[in-house]
Amino acid sequence: MAANRRPHDEALMRRAIEIARRAVAHGNHPFGALLATPEGEVLLEAENTCRTARDATGHAERNLMTEASQRLAPEVLARATLYTSTEPCAMCAGAAYWVGIARVVYGLSERRLGRIIGAHPENLTLDLDCRKILGSGQRRIEVIGPLLEDEAAAVHEGFWTAG
Ligand SMILES: [Zn+2]
Repeated sequence: MAANRRPHDEALMRRAIEIARRAVAHGNHPFGALLATPEGEVLLEAENTCRTARDATGHAERNLMTEASQRLAPEVLARATLYTSTEPCAMCAGAAYWVGIARVVYGLSERRLGRIIGAHPENLTLDLDCRKILGSGQRRIEVIGPLLEDEAAAVHEGFWTAG
């Protein structure tokens, strides 16, 4: 895993975590994602929009992948990295696959997220390693993570138990 780390991976993960904080400030769940070039230039950002858009599929990464597919050229996508504050769920890993990006870097693991949230009706977390999905395709997608997991977990602490 460490062999394929890039110098800007941690800075861009911290930025994805900040986007997750912004999603909460905007009334949504604490998830954020961004898409970057191999050189670390940010192409797009997306927040979770489940509550405000009344869209149960409004996960940050799924929102990001839809926008990326609509706005960016295939050759740009084919080199791009998705940075996401939490490991992509089955839907979001599928979206990353179909959009054809090169790489996924995630902060908090899905399993640890599940332990933090428990059986919350708004987030019945899947216990599924995104490598299982991304490793099942005909196209290779590199996966790095968990990265800065404690920092990525901090945005969830207190959120799912409050009011
Ligand atoms: Zn998702």
